[in-house]
This record gives sequence, C-alpha cells and structure tokens, in this order.
Amino acid sequence: MGTDEKSLRMGICGGTFDPIHIGHLTVAQTVRDLLYLDKVLFIPVGLAPHKDAKKVAPAHHRMNMVKEAVKDHPYFEALDLEVKRGGFTYSVDTLRQLKENYLKGKEDEKKGMAQNLRFYYIIGADVVLELLKWKDFLQVFSLCSFVVVLRPGYDAGYVLEHIQWLKEHYEVSISSLPVPLLDISSTQIRQRVRAKESISDLVPTVVERYMIENKVYG
Ligand code: ATP
Ligand code: MG
Repeated sequence: MGTDEKSLRMGICGGTFDPIHIGHLTVAQTVRDLLYLDKVLFIPVGLAPHKDAKKVAPAHHRMNMVKEAVKDHPYFEALDLEVKRGGFTYSVDTLRQLKENYLKGKEDEKKGMAQNLRFYYIIGADVVLELLKWKDFLQVFSLCSFVVVLRPGYDAGYVLEHIQWLKEHYEVSISSLPVPLLDISSTQIRQRVRAKESISDLVPTVVERYMIENKVYG
C-alpha cells in the first residue's frame, strides 16, 4: 500500500461544515493514517438536500473556514466543486466529476489509472443510517468505498448491524474503522457561539478567528 506510484487512494470528507471542527479533522487524520490515503479531500456541500437552506451559513463562509482549517496540513485539501456548482449538490455528481478530473490528461495512462484510482468516502454513523436516501445510491456504490466512523449517541451494535445488512443486500464496499469517539458537532458549536460560550477546544484557532471576524454566527 502506498508504494505503487500509479495507485491513488483518495479520502473524501463531505459535509455541511457549518463550521468544520476538530471532530472532522481528527476523523480524517485517523482514517488517513489507518488506510494510507494519499489525500483527504474536504468538500463542503452547496445546498444540503436534507437541511433547511435558510438555517445554513453562506457557502463562501463554510468554504473559507474549511480552507483555513486545512491550509497547513500536508494531506488535506479543500475543494470548492460543490459550492461552485450551487443549488442542491449530490455526491454522485461529485464523484463523477472527481474521477474525471483525476483522470484528465495523459490519455494513454487513463486505463491504468482508472483501475488504481480509489475513493474512500468517510462518513459518520448518522450518515450511514441514511445512505439509501442518497440520490442514485447504486451509482455511488459503484464509484467509491465507504469508511464509517462511530459518533457518540449512536449505538455501535445497531450501526454495525446496519452496515452488515447493506453489504448483504447491495454491492457496496463498506467497512467501519475504530476512531476515538468525539463528542463534537457543528450544531453544538453554533449553539455555543450564540450563547457566547468558548469553542476554542472544538475548532482550530484559525477557524474561530475567521468566524468571529466575519460574524458568521452573529
Ligand atoms: P451538524 O451538527 O450541523 O449536522 P456535523 O457535526 O454533523 O454538523 P457535518 O458537516 O454534518 O457535521 O458532517 C460531515 C461528516 O462528518 C458526516 O459524515 C458526519 O457524520 C461526520 N462527523 C461530524 N462530526 C463527527 C464526529 N464528531 N465524529 C465522527 N464523525 C463526524
Ligand atoms: Mg451532521
């Protein structure tokens, strides 16, 4: 693993990132290390199909906070392809676009690269339980593998059973990885900011600075 120059193992962290927090970053780092990923791509959604658009911070602020959070990290990259696309964004389109982008150029090498380019979509327990609500999920299953991490408040046994059930009923590559449980959510951070409570142990300093300077959460 990681020694074949032609193979490219990309992690994907998609989300609203309203705002990005230490939970996202720790999960990404741990999965990167365990799976020897070449990179983890952080991709904030444009409009989340499952969230009330009016209640979500503007895309450019969410994007900028992600950029701030990953800017000095050697393996992390912030991608704006979903916020640029605008409107509701779906992972199936993003995966297709990513595949195309990474295979661009070098026509003759395309075939070999296609076989060795793998996407690992990193999702929390909350997301795996809703996976069959994703647009064109069968297509998505054919385009990436899933790596599931547990979150506090979700029964590990139930989540693992669900993963097993998915594997038995669909052609999907999905596995769970042991990542330390982190009781952090963006919801909790937004609430704390509004209550004027400290969030300095929940988000990187640069993200905290950005949201204060730009009054992202009032
Ligand atoms: P919100 O409370 O606004 O829903 P969130 O903290 O759940 O925010 P999202 O942007 O919705 O963050 O999540 C993006 C991805 O990161 C999802 O796959 C989610 O399950 C995962 N994730 C977020 N926080 C954690 C955490 N503390 N531990 C593990 N996975 C997490
Ligand atoms: Mg969430």
